[in-house]
Amino acid sequence: AKSAGGNRYELADPEADARVITRHGLTTALPAALERGEFFIEYQPLVHLGDGSVHGAEALVRWLHPQHGVLGPDRFIPLAEHTGLIVPLGRWVLEQSVRQARVWRERYGESTAAGPLRINVNLSPCQLTHPGLVQDTVDILERTGVAPDALCLEVTESALIGADDDLLKPLRRLAEMGVDIALDDFGTGYSNLANLRRLPVSVLKLDRSFTQSMQRFPADPVDLKIVEGIVALAHSLDLTVTVEGVETGAQAEQLRILGCDTAQGWYYARPGPPERLHELALVDATG
Ligand code: C2E
Ligand code: CA
Ligand code: CA
Ligand code: CA
Repeated sequence: AKSAGGNRYELADPEADARVITRHGLTTALPAALERGEFFIEYQPLVHLGDGSVHGAEALVRWLHPQHGVLGPDRFIPLAEHTGLIVPLGRWVLEQSVRQARVWRERYGESTAAGPLRINVNLSPCQLTHPGLVQDTVDILERTGVAPDALCLEVTESALIGADDDLLKPLRRLAEMGVDIALDDFGTGYSNLANLRRLPVSVLKLDRSFTQSMQRFPADPVDLKIVEGIVALAHSLDLTVTVEGVETGAQAEQLRILGCDTAQGWYYARPGPPERLHELALVDATG
């Protein structure tokens, strides 16, 4: 189903296409696809739960495959990780996204009515262990003239479970520069809350499964307590809490009451072309 002003297309259905698109075929096509510019990025706004104003946007990569149409990241990111292409692909996503942030900032200044327009970019675990990560990021920020604190890198909780100091070092350096690090899909791994203290993260992204449990009314009291506890702990550690997958106003309201800071989901906007965020930010800035 399409939402009002929603997607221009539906992402290909993995099961229906599994027969015609082989893993092998997609994997071997990846490098040429990057060279030919077949990847593009959609942006999904992050909003402040307090007043619904735009806080920033998450960059989500797609592949416009010449035969199969638009493929979602779940179809090809695992393949790119497997072959190592994720490193140049991830670098491309980072550069494109930071350039886009620059365009937004030039257009609206450093901030909208709600605060600075920020960009969130997903990092694969393979990029974390790649020695060029810090330098590539510094170069991209310098080339584009975007301040480090406009950038948030999202790393999944599972990628950091049991992480040793070598793995955390590049993230620490980025965090020292002012780049925010978000712990993505939080709550899905073997969450060791005490472990949070040693991670250089400033944002927790609560997994969509928590948001889904807020769908029922009244919500499961245990789920409410869990989210309340996570938020309290996060805030006591000076972390911001973002929730993903907000699809209804009731969920948004419940999560706001529980103290979550920012949110993302179809209720606000589906991922879309950068022009859509122009519109949202403009609405935001003019009230
Ligand atoms: P993620 O980082 O957890 O991103 C959120 C996913 O939830 C996105 O799926 C987004 O379109 C979807 N979503 C947003 N709002 C809602 C909602 O209200 N309801 C529902 N049901 N879904 C919602 P998408 O775009 O298919 O991306 C899937 C995953 O692919 C991402 O999960 C992320 O892990 C990965 N990914 C996307 N872009 C990149 C990238 O540039 N690099 C890397 N390494 N991974 C990426
Ligand atoms: Ca993410
Ligand atoms: Ca910061
Ligand atoms: Ca997530």
